Amino acid sequence: MVRIKNRFACDADGVLTDTGSAFAKILSKINNRSVSQSEITEYSMANLGLPDSELKNYLNNQFYMNLSPIKNSVKLINELFQDNYIPIITARDQYDGVMQDTETWFFDNGVLFDDLIQERDKSIPIKELGLDFIVEDCYETCLDLAKKGIKTILFKQPWNKKYKLGTEEDKGLIKSVEDWHEIHYTINNGIDKFSVSTQLTNPLTKNN
Ligand SMILES: [Mg+2]
Repeated sequence: MVRIKNRFACDADGVLTDTGSAFAKILSKINNRSVSQSEITEYSMANLGLPDSELKNYLNNQFYMNLSPIKNSVKLINELFQDNYIPIITARDQYDGVMQDTETWFFDNGVLFDDLIQERDKSIPIKELGLDFIVEDCYETCLDLAKKGIKTILFKQPWNKKYKLGTEEDKGLIKSVEDWHEIHYTINNGIDKFSVSTQLTNPLTKNN
């Protein structure tokens, strides 16, 4: 029997699905110019011409089904799945059937996971399932979870890069990572070994 190393949640959008490039395409159309993903420096895209009130019009079946996986995410979450317990927790609730579409997308893209949970307050399933931490791209969610004593791995995206970690507010419970190789390395080596400021040096990982 395989020993389970960790029980951790994984967010869907912005961690497994490449919402950044999908939004860059939408923003390019709206602005009639090429908008790069690096310009999306806020979780809200109002300053790029897409206020929250209009955003929901774009979040339909076509949007979610056409997302690409984030680089290396499928291969590495599937490797972690071999000896970790990994439910996916998403706040997606944009239309009836979004969770069926979500499940189909994961199946079509070959992503392995233990459970698929829809919940805006991610602390609820994290506590109910007794999970150790979550991998998440929304800084505000990480901060909210940190305040509840829950550790998070913040997946770096243009919209969360500006935040300073290791503050009194986040209690040092948010650890940021650059890519899926760093997630894999951090989890395999035990996230408690890495402080917020630890520079990870895994030379094997950066080239592919
Ligand atoms: Mg997300």
